[in-house]
Amino acid sequence: MNLALALAASGLRAGVENYSGLICAHCGEVTPMYPAAAPEESVWTFLERIVSVPFSPQAAADADQGRPVMHTRAVPEQVTAFELLARRVRDRLAPPGQPRGAASD
Ligand SMILES: [Zn+2]
Repeated sequence: MNLALALAASGLRAGVENYSGLICAHCGEVTPMYPAAAPEESVWTFLERIVSVPFSPQAAADADQGRPVMHTRAVPEQVTAFELLARRVRDRLAPPGQPRGAASD
């Protein structure tokens, strides 16, 4: 079964791209963690990418010490991604007929 058929059969329609890049602990530059997949081999050809979350060695170390990034807010790239994810999920969960959130992204 090819990827498109497998994803269609799974019922998945969207996802979160984790490890979308590596945030440099020294300068904050985000660089790719992995080479990009060919379009026919990428889940993002077939699924909506709700948000991309880059990896941060600092956030990982903080989390290992019991300090999640949404508490420390030490890695703005991750804070922004998680806040965007929360807004987008909230908007999707809005009851039918109810106005959706004012997310403008
Ligand atoms: Zn750097």
